[in-house]
Amino acid sequence: MELSFEQGPIRPPSEAASLLLRLTRNCPWNKCAFCRSYKGATFSRRSVEEIKNDIDTVVKMCRSVQEISRKSGFGGLLNMDVMVKLYNTGDYQLFHVASWLYNGGKTVFLQDANSLVMKTDDVVEILRYLKESLPSVERVTTYARSSTLARKSVEELTALKQAGLSRIHVGMESGSDDVLKLINKGATAQQHIEAGRRVKESGISLSEYVILGMGGKRWSKEHALETARVLNMINPDFIRMRSLTVAEGTPLSQKARNGEFAEETEEEVVAGEKLLIERLDGIQSNLVSDHSMNLLEEVNGKLPEDKPAMIGIIDRFLALPEREKQNFILGKRWGVYRVLDDLRDASNHARVADALDKLEKEGKYHATLSYLKNQVI
Ligand code: SF4
Repeated sequence: MELSFEQGPIRPPSEAASLLLRLTRNCPWNKCAFCRSYKGATFSRRSVEEIKNDIDTVVKMCRSVQEISRKSGFGGLLNMDVMVKLYNTGDYQLFHVASWLYNGGKTVFLQDANSLVMKTDDVVEILRYLKESLPSVERVTTYARSSTLARKSVEELTALKQAGLSRIHVGMESGSDDVLKLINKGATAQQHIEAGRRVKESGISLSEYVILGMGGKRWSKEHALETARVLNMINPDFIRMRSLTVAEGTPLSQKARNGEFAEETEEEVVAGEKLLIERLDGIQSNLVSDHSMNLLEEVNGKLPEDKPAMIGIIDRFLALPEREKQNFILGKRWGVYRVLDDLRDASNHARVADALDKLEKEGKYHATLSYLKNQVI
């Protein structure tokens, strides 16, 4: 019988090489107006025993992987030949575990949306068991909501750190209370600050996610200024940029239809990004645009020293002639371009220019852009 353990659907891009271990199912809040991640899925808890059993299963799967390597004449080592063999078994989870081992077996991501809603003692027990069972693990990360973290004491968070929790990813989205209310985030700016500062004080690394464009046209400036203010109060280790997509079927798309929310243009979103970065002050965070949904994926750097370079990239885009801006936006959303320098590729540039002309003639430019943007999750 094939071995298997439970896994959820989502992890941050930075955890692509991590082993995914599910502590709770889905999202206990599930009400953010822009989010479709767990729509229609009910939150439920898993017992410590169930999770420990899953860890035991991973250990057995690691042994199976080594056994397959030995039987193939590679003495338990993982190489491409063994990986291909494992892939061809069609056992997705065994391949996931093998890929994790192939990458060193060092990182684990605890799923789903808010694992720390579990009792702290239970998470501590799981972390200890995980580290004992899989000694190669060096980094353990998870998502957590600010409203949950703000209810944990620094002592509790320190206990989690000592048991092996290395990093917490928090969806701040915005530092503006008006925007947080609009999107029904279930957290205030003050809770974001409180939660973030406690995590920092415990020594756990902190990633804060910000959604560019989340304020829409009405709250654009406030979104940028207040988000910068809250981030300045926290000084997270990472500020991770995401860009808004108004997905069909979400409460936000309903608000957009009835006029309560007006989406910004791509250029307005970039101008808001510039204002936000300009206002980041007195912090040493790493700012990363590690998602292809961001128009300017090359805006990355360490604060404060890389701030001028990051603003420089944004200014370079904003200074492009109108047609060039449209060409870049369409090419980026289409997957032809990644960075601004890609505009120099004459053949791709001509291809995108032709498509742009055609879409405009047919009156389909905006609809196509919106469609392409929504394809990226
Ligand atoms: S807390 Fe996260 S997963 Fe849950 S609804 Fe909000 S954005 Fe989605």
